[in-house]
Amino acid sequence: MKPDEFRKHAHELADWMADYLENVENYPVRSLVNPGQIFNKIPDSPPADSEPFSSFMKDFEEIIMPGITHWQNPNFFAYFPANTSPSSILAEMLISTLGAQCMIWETSPAAAELEEKMMNWLRDMIGLPPGFEGVIQDSASTATLAAILTAREKTTGFSINSDGSEHAGTLRVYCSDQTHSSVEKAVKISGIGKKNLVKIPVRDDFSMDPEKLKAEILKDIKEGFIPCCVVATLGTTGTASVDPLRAIGEICHENDIWLHVDAAMAGTALILPEFQWMLDGREYIDSFVFNPHKWMFTNFDCTAYFVKDAGTLIKTFEILPEYLNTRTRGKVNDYRDWGVPLGRRFRALKLWSVIRSFGTEGLREKVRYHIKIASQLSVMISKEADFEILAPVIISVVCFRFNPEGYNEEQLNTLNEKLNHQLNDSGKIYLSHTVLKGKYTLRMVTAQTNVTLVHVENAWALIMKTARGLVS
Ligand SMILES: *Cc1c(COP(=O)(O)O)cnc(C)c1O
Repeated sequence: MKPDEFRKHAHELADWMADYLENVENYPVRSLVNPGQIFNKIPDSPPADSEPFSSFMKDFEEIIMPGITHWQNPNFFAYFPANTSPSSILAEMLISTLGAQCMIWETSPAAAELEEKMMNWLRDMIGLPPGFEGVIQDSASTATLAAILTAREKTTGFSINSDGSEHAGTLRVYCSDQTHSSVEKAVKISGIGKKNLVKIPVRDDFSMDPEKLKAEILKDIKEGFIPCCVVATLGTTGTASVDPLRAIGEICHENDIWLHVDAAMAGTALILPEFQWMLDGREYIDSFVFNPHKWMFTNFDCTAYFVKDAGTLIKTFEILPEYLNTRTRGKVNDYRDWGVPLGRRFRALKLWSVIRSFGTEGLREKVRYHIKIASQLSVMISKEADFEILAPVIISVVCFRFNPEGYNEEQLNTLNEKLNHQLNDSGKIYLSHTVLKGKYTLRMVTAQTNVTLVHVENAWALIMKTARGLVS
């Protein structure tokens, strides 16, 4: 492609992008295609000759767009959001234009130094202690893997990295039974083994029971196991419950156990002074992860991973082949030593753009509004006798089900599953589900960048109408 063609297409694309964002509500929220529909429309072999960008765009519109689920549609209430915002998208354009691979300081000093500064900004915005240092990772799953590997090395005197995993099978990791599956994945990959992941039961509000944690740890020590890491969650995936950090932290402190905090979604709420209570006990934290790519309006991927002692993290991941041994080594941050991948995108730029565009007050206002409309939704639900709320509403997640008279538990599960499918198949809204204490539960997350109370009210009207239509 010649430079003048690139310029022309880039201008056209800018218009396409602005039009898309303006009209995103007109698309069905969840893609309505069937399995194989997209695959079968793509040729089985690549073209031998150059094709114009216009034919690529034509296929993008006709083949790809119907197979897209529109995460930026404010009627997207499923999972946790993967929010963008205009300032983030613009920065992504710069990032991909520069195409810099930011593995070490020298391969783009601005990327390393901006990342260090952005992590300090974020650390201060969410209220982690001043000594913490941060690094951008591709996902919370990768950050949690880094935490568990670091905890494993610290606990074993860095012996598994050097000698292999002879002792890994006696290490134990603890989390609640509501914890995200990334912890189980990390425990498997780290060689500690799934059988050594101890899932602690939760209390009525779905938060970890610290008494049960303590009992398990003491029992394990007696039986010769070595407690290695506890993962506490602020904002679990199912109900956004908050584990009691101080009580868990004290147990970790007494027994010299690494405390990793997974705040992938709810970490953003920590920018609000009224949510700082979630971090009570912060002095016990060894590592902490949250995802600006979820609820801080920054394009996927952008995970913020913080550690109390960067030295232990670096000692776990450091490699130094001769071609990476540079003159600035030791004076600057070479972030390839702070996690699994060597190659790194220049992700700090979009954080800088987003934070400057919103301002910290603008970010707070939006997050506060999302939490407020979740609580308004929970009031609307509570007013209807044939619906019930199934978990406390803390941030922007509301768990509920349709519960009309005369149905047993099994029938209610079938009914609510049917309701969920019917709503999502309408293309008008998109909800996901979870199972709480055996109950099929609808889960509505009011945290899409542009969601408003009106979207929530319309969604709620549609949910009531669809539900009642199923039983009338
Ligand atoms: C989303 C989520 C994760 C996984 O995040 P990725 O960045 O997709 O790996 C982990 N833990 C919690 C609590 C989450 O909400």
